[in-house]
Amino acid sequence: MSVATARVEDSVHPAARWAAEELGRLSELGLRRHLEPLQSAQGAVVRIAGRELVNFCSNDYLGLAGDVRLAQAAVVGLRERGAGSGSSRLLAGDSDAHHSLEQKIAGWMNSESALLFNTGYAAASGILPALCGPGDAIFSDALNHASWVDGCRLSRATIAVYPHLDLAALDRLLRSTPGRRRLVCTEAVFSMDGDRAPLAEMVALCRRSGAALLVDEAHALGVLGPHGAGLCEELGLGGEVDLRLGTLGKALGVFGAFAATSRSVADLLINRARPLIFSTALPPAICSAAGRAVDIAADEPQLRSTLWRHVRRFGEGLSVLGIPARPDSAIFPVLLGGPDEALEAAQRLRSRGILAKAIRPPTVPPGTSRLRFSLSASHRPEHIDLALKSLAEIKRSRVR
Ligand SMILES: *Cc1c(COP(=O)(O)O)cnc(C)c1O
Repeated sequence: MSVATARVEDSVHPAARWAAEELGRLSELGLRRHLEPLQSAQGAVVRIAGRELVNFCSNDYLGLAGDVRLAQAAVVGLRERGAGSGSSRLLAGDSDAHHSLEQKIAGWMNSESALLFNTGYAAASGILPALCGPGDAIFSDALNHASWVDGCRLSRATIAVYPHLDLAALDRLLRSTPGRRRLVCTEAVFSMDGDRAPLAEMVALCRRSGAALLVDEAHALGVLGPHGAGLCEELGLGGEVDLRLGTLGKALGVFGAFAATSRSVADLLINRARPLIFSTALPPAICSAAGRAVDIAADEPQLRSTLWRHVRRFGEGLSVLGIPARPDSAIFPVLLGGPDEALEAAQRLRSRGILAKAIRPPTVPPGTSRLRFSLSASHRPEHIDLALKSLAEIKRSRVR
């Protein structure tokens, strides 16, 4: 550390000095982050630094990331189409693999159209500026994902942030905030809290005020709905929402994202969404693997039933420990407060064989640092029980 610091301070590169200053500040605040490479495939048990750990950090809700059927589909795609797509879809990077995946997704989501993006982050930061600009207004939940926050900023529309899930506040803001076009943006299942947006009420509110509704299904896809198409499917609201964002890298176990929307919005996004226009297209082989993942997510409801059995088991176990738990999704936050407490709890769980990383600001608001447990159909009941037992142990020794 001191050797590296001395070298940085002497550096002729100003950026290296700035970086060292900023990193020092982050370390003091307990907010410094580090990479930790897996030495295994993604799954319920992973190897890190030579040690097997039961993994509660992935968003691999159906356990598909390491599924050999997806890898096989990718291999076929790689053999037929090579490794790369070569350019943006608007040049020569588009392929029938992209279009057949989009058709499959539109069928699954029961939407007029689906349009692929390279990541959910790229989609969110591209969609809002494509739909809204100066003179328009975007209404955004205070806990929306960073990609929507960035999309709001890039749009240069008026941004009205409402307190998390507070529909009375949203209603007041809709009444008091004018805009040529107005759009409400929410997650279906919130990524760090695991709670659900009251979408039926939000649809009604948007109808009344003439606002469009955009729903991010990142943590609901694969998990909710009879065919795993998300919270809108579960509530029968797919047709009521202007645009649903889905990610292919979470429950679907691959990589990429999509907007499920009307034909006209999809066409506008092809013309205006900068991350789609100015970025190399997804490799066709990724589309092949994702297509297989959609089939499995839609046609194998037993994966969802297994996941939900784990959700109930973990939720009940947490309640017994006196830890507030809401089995609304596969995500369970355990709030600890400050970043140091969260880091310490994560460390103590790790020494018991559990990987549940500390989630700290700016991912979550200050004072709400936490452990975030995400469950997967690939977990076994013993994994859930080990997490509960370990939490009980660290809770007991905290009290002492
Ligand atoms: C992960 C996530 C995204 C971004 O998706 P990526 O494909 O991982 O870039 C967007 N929204 C929410 C709510 C997410 O959790």
